[in-house]
Amino acid sequence: MNSLAELSPWWSEGLRFSCIGCGRCCRGEPGAIYFTEGEEEKICDHLKISKERFRAEYVTHRWGDPSIGEKANGECLFYDPATARCAIYQVRPTQCRTWPFWEDILESPDQWAWASRRCPGIDEGRLWTESEIRSILEDQL
Ligand code: SF4
Repeated sequence: MNSLAELSPWWSEGLRFSCIGCGRCCRGEPGAIYFTEGEEEKICDHLKISKERFRAEYVTHRWGDPSIGEKANGECLFYDPATARCAIYQVRPTQCRTWPFWEDILESPDQWAWASRRCPGIDEGRLWTESEIRSILEDQL
């Protein structure tokens, strides 16, 4: 298994990814969508609501931590099925913004291939260099 601290990870030649806006990652299997306090503030400002209202209407808990909630059909509460768009796209959490360059997905080609079966944007379009990917990973620290 490669460590991301290695000088030359398996993705040292870069990886291709361009989101095609299908919205698949915002629907389907239940998951966790974590956010920081700063991100919460930005979302509340964007929605023009208080933190209390945000917590009451949009937040659930996953594995003990606050997470943006989902509808009964598994869609993120902020996913608009009519447009396949995110209602808080400009202020979406880092977790959403940095997909698919997550440490666990970059751990191995198998993990990347697993993610590519769920996301048609993986292995397509723009080539992200090793240094760009490292910078996205640092964003998540
Ligand atoms: S599943 Fe992939 S291609 Fe589709 S919206 Fe999400 S990131 Fe974009």
